[in-house]
Amino acid sequence: MVIVNAAAPAPQPGTIKSARTVDEHRAVVAALLPPTEVVEVPVAEARGRVLAEDLVTPLALPPFDNSAMDGYAVRAVDVVGAGESSPVELPVATDIPAGRVDVPALEPGTAARIMTGAPMPAGADAVIQVELTDGGTERVRIAAERPAGTHVRTVGEDVAAGVVALTAGTVLGAPQIAIAAALGLATLRVRRQPHVLVLSTGSELVEPGRELRPGQIYESNGVMLAAAIRDAGCTAEQLRSVADDVDEFRKVLQERVAEGVDLVITSGGVSAGAYEVVKDALTGHGVDFVRVAMQPGGPQGAGRLQLDDGISCPVVTLPGNPVSSLVSFEVFVRPALRAAMGHPHPARPVVTAKAGEDLRSPADKRQFRRGVLDAADGTVREVGSPASHLLGALARADCLMVLPEGLDAVRVGDPVEVWLLDG
Ligand code: AMP
Ligand code: MG
Repeated sequence: MVIVNAAAPAPQPGTIKSARTVDEHRAVVAALLPPTEVVEVPVAEARGRVLAEDLVTPLALPPFDNSAMDGYAVRAVDVVGAGESSPVELPVATDIPAGRVDVPALEPGTAARIMTGAPMPAGADAVIQVELTDGGTERVRIAAERPAGTHVRTVGEDVAAGVVALTAGTVLGAPQIAIAAALGLATLRVRRQPHVLVLSTGSELVEPGRELRPGQIYESNGVMLAAAIRDAGCTAEQLRSVADDVDEFRKVLQERVAEGVDLVITSGGVSAGAYEVVKDALTGHGVDFVRVAMQPGGPQGAGRLQLDDGISCPVVTLPGNPVSSLVSFEVFVRPALRAAMGHPHPARPVVTAKAGEDLRSPADKRQFRRGVLDAADGTVREVGSPASHLLGALARADCLMVLPEGLDAVRVGDPVEVWLLDG
């Protein structure tokens, strides 16, 4: 892959093309990620995936009439009048453990010892639980009468055959995986997980585990974004981080970007300073750099990077400050990735909480503050401050407080929209 070198009328590297609202930029990013195709995955690997088609039951559940108790299968008429002082005694014709496949019919006037989940013999219509008998194996004394149907699980009473058990768009958790297996399915049809590359930039960055020299910091956005991508249900691949060097940046991208990559996310190098490597390398190659009316995360870029051979690859360029980077991922990328997988709830769960303190907010921007929600009294309090380098506060937060455009102050007790980050 070679980034098509625009001998084209490239905008001046480093210029910011336009200003956008949060919603406008969300729509731009969402348009880069169309729905992925439908694939078949083993049921055991389907956790967290989204069912792509209605699941029609190939058989009924239970698949046959079976006992709900350990006890004795009988004809209800044969135990009419049985009681503690007047037990009915019946010969035990056969023993039916769970899994027996050659169960004979039950002759009138006999009982069959039966275990939970074992098939009911033809002719039997009730199960007397073992606690109401003497537990005999040749003959059994039954000390209670029970109507027909007692402790019998009938075929199809849970799920009928040929009906929709799970609708398209269902997120597959433990119960949904269980019903698929119970129906005998080995695979399920789901939308493919987008594969996302992560590329961090910055000449100051050092891999954790190495020695740090004055002026250097450890690289943390790469692992953070890769984890966030996986949390969103996608697969992530971290490329080696690069210095603020356009040629090195292009080289690393060119080594890896090819068909089969659904998205490249970069961090850093998109704001208004000098050495903005991402902006300098990608301006004029299909990626637009804009200022979004939000805080943190004002400088953003997105577009379809044009490669040779007609290949193109969606790219979203996030700012480098760790809080800006993750908040931007939450606002723009996560919902788009989840929508591409057919997720019925691409967004984080949203609740309205009460402000636990007075806050000021810039009226011309949508502000996302890190918060902790007290679920007991429904109040939310800020952790840290709006500054976008406060990774410690980000790591303690469990929600984002959304302070909309047009609002310059929140007072204690005011309603605040909150995105739950662990939901
Ligand atoms: P930039 O957006 O490249 O101007 O970076 C803004 C701030 O974020 C600077 O203080 C960078 O050192 C920091 N930063 C950028 N990339 C990373 C990263 N991958 N890990 C940790 N901090 C970063
Ligand atoms: Mg940088």
